[in-house]
Amino acid sequence: MITKEQYLTSIKALNHRVFIQGETVDSIVDHPISRPPVMALAETYAQAEREDKKELYTARSHLTGEPINRFLHIQHGIDDLIAKISMLRDMGKQTACCFQRCAGTDCINAVYSTTCDIDREYGTPYYERFKEFLKYLQQYDLVPAACMTDAKGDRGRSPSQQVDKDQFLHIVEEKKGGIVVRGAKLHITGGVNSHELIVMPTRTLTEQDKDYAVAFAVPADTTGVTFIYGRQPSDTRRLEASQTDIGNLHYGGCEALVVFDDVFVPEERIFMKGEYPFAGRLVELFAANHRASYGGCKVGVGDVLIGATALIAEVQGTDKSSHVKDKIAEMIHLNETLHAGALASAVKGCRNPCGSYTVDHLAANSCKLNITRFPFEISRLAQDIAGGLLVTMPSLKDQQHTEIGGYIKKYFGGKAGVDSETRMRLLRLIENITLGTGAVSYLTESIHGAGSPQAQKIMITRLVDMDSAKAAAKNLCGI
Ligand code: SF4
Ligand code: FE
Repeated sequence: MITKEQYLTSIKALNHRVFIQGETVDSIVDHPISRPPVMALAETYAQAEREDKKELYTARSHLTGEPINRFLHIQHGIDDLIAKISMLRDMGKQTACCFQRCAGTDCINAVYSTTCDIDREYGTPYYERFKEFLKYLQQYDLVPAACMTDAKGDRGRSPSQQVDKDQFLHIVEEKKGGIVVRGAKLHITGGVNSHELIVMPTRTLTEQDKDYAVAFAVPADTTGVTFIYGRQPSDTRRLEASQTDIGNLHYGGCEALVVFDDVFVPEERIFMKGEYPFAGRLVELFAANHRASYGGCKVGVGDVLIGATALIAEVQGTDKSSHVKDKIAEMIHLNETLHAGALASAVKGCRNPCGSYTVDHLAANSCKLNITRFPFEISRLAQDIAGGLLVTMPSLKDQQHTEIGGYIKKYFGGKAGVDSETRMRLLRLIENITLGTGAVSYLTESIHGAGSPQAQKIMITRLVDMDSAKAAAKNLCGI
């Protein structure tokens, strides 16, 4: 395993092509917009270095027996599934944002078991290839980004029916020793902070879409790969020299558009090539893993928001009020319900044919559907308790001003003994999580990350045992 500092050095050394707001970036570690996301991901290394967190953040590689970061572990039992979710809650609580490394965790677990299934059906060599790749990731403690969502073009048409064939990433040429691919993957979490990119199909595919049934890995700085960094609300506050109004002083999440413009993929890095019946299964497996993960990371962010809300009630003198107590209880209840769903998906997890374990799909999808709703309600309650000052307050810079600072200190102090800066910092943090850069992680990502709500409803409807439910009803009413 490598240290946080070694991770930062390795990302600095990457020679990948990244654009932020129309300009190329030399070092994403040092750019003020991308530094907080890099630091959030770096915490996955820092936590693993801590003696008291070793059990949660490390595991033993089933391939080499060596200690590895849990983010690179293939789950081999219910305990592993539970530990991952507990670890993600802990990380969410440390960072209050998407810390980006778990999409890769869920991806390697999905590709691991799917390549095994493909090989059983077709006698292909993908499973052994993937295991070699995984050993490499584990040996150097690297971050692989999960690249799934395609541009999709006309959503009423399949990949092969698109007017512009690149709307879904596809194979454009077969060469000696590999393939050439073209397309783009959207909303890629932590793409710019990762050493490797693992590409998977985005949907079920038919025989006509064979060229789109492709999974592979390439280093992030491969020729032809371009990252275009996604904007977030209030992101340019990070460009202000004082940094006083950013709310979350240390961390943030990030997503990017990743373009693959005729990228060569060597044979040993190809994990699916044309086996279209397995595309949908790979998507479902990744989605179930990642949907359960949300019942870890978002709950950790919820912990921070609940803490900040309880504190703001204290400094404003409303903490003894019965309706405030009731609202905070409601926030806790919603947050714990989310976590319970993820834990249920782990406890009910099952063994894959290759020996690894996967969460229960019905429970994972139900958990994620709650995630599309409850963080919004928790945020609403936080804003209710915080009050309108949350969005009308001047800058903390005004508070430090020689002429007007006195007014801010006098009128924004809250209850006696509380200084205005304490109150303003808490409000800025709540603002960040529910309206600013942090809201990308906590709210919009909760709807669309790991698949939009309708995708979960489709899975829930498909997976439920409706026949036995109907039979139970009929039995009880004498039909
Ligand atoms: Fe990890 Fe959550 Fe971000 Fe997904 S949304 S990468 S599970 S922190
Ligand atoms: Fe996500």
